[in-house]
Amino acid sequence: MSRELQGRGAPEGTEGDRPSASGSRLRPAGTLRETGTAEEPAILEVERLSVSYGKVEALHGAGIRVAAGSIVTVIGPNGAGKTTMLGAIMGLLPCRGGVRFDGRDVRREEVEVRVAAGMALVPEKRELFGDMTVADNLLLGAFHRYRRGERRLDGDMAQVYARFPRLQERRHQLAGTLSGGERQMLALGRALMTRPRLLMLDEPSLGLAPLIVRDIFRIIADLRSTGVAILLVEQNARAALQVADYGYVLETGDVVLEGAAAELAANPRVIETYLGLAAAGAGAAERGPG
Ligand code: ATP
Repeated sequence: MSRELQGRGAPEGTEGDRPSASGSRLRPAGTLRETGTAEEPAILEVERLSVSYGKVEALHGAGIRVAAGSIVTVIGPNGAGKTTMLGAIMGLLPCRGGVRFDGRDVRREEVEVRVAAGMALVPEKRELFGDMTVADNLLLGAFHRYRRGERRLDGDMAQVYARFPRLQERRHQLAGTLSGGERQMLALGRALMTRPRLLMLDEPSLGLAPLIVRDIFRIIADLRSTGVAILLVEQNARAALQVADYGYVLETGDVVLEGAAAELAANPRVIETYLGLAAAGAGAAERGPG
């Protein structure tokens, strides 16, 4: 995995780069690469994004970029503004700054338009319809396509069931009776029914047992190979940096560090602040129960 990761990520030698204590070079926080200078074109470019709740500004001009077909993670502590950032990108929250999806300015577009364009969000609380079946929750993911007149959704359902056999087994079960891991799978499956080109995941590991977390992260890595880009917000920094190509550290509303995921994982400040305790937990998860 690490060899693969080192081959990806940001171009070196950008003006203003600073060496990290580990010897790798990390990009200065808050700067945005010019379009076209990266190895891969950007599917998402967020520039100087600010969001306020009343008089309190939660995000202070943060910038991130997601290369097409890559996994980019935003890590940071509780209350850093990660969920706020995803909400603003998706159009759920008013914001200032630039949000470009596939080269197009979407900041004034409604959520439905962004979904139809290929943006999907799996929210932290999953937000499933608990009194509806698994199958109906999946179908709701394709609602915008149904409204456009598409009636042949069987192929998409079959693909989701192939990826999540557990959902197929439980397709007639009410979503409210699923386990935590199954609920996360259903939330992912429902997002896939929108045929996203950018999948934004808010804390997919939240509340899940370590072995289930490992399964979810395997699924996330596998999704990248289908060409979908993933923006992954996580407090589980170790797991996120293992699966991601590039990462940003968000603290109290500011991007304070960014770099290739492997470089961030080796950065002493990241290790000390975000990987110290997680290291023990991840090791236990890898060893398994016995
Ligand atoms: P967590 O991992 O705990 O979800 P986060 O990084 O996602 O944290 P946010 O939920 O985006 O952080 O919150 C960022 C800041 O904005 C916090 O100080 C939070 O209290 C505040 N905030 C979030 N939602 C609201 C709201 N609806 N009204 C007022 N303040 C809010």
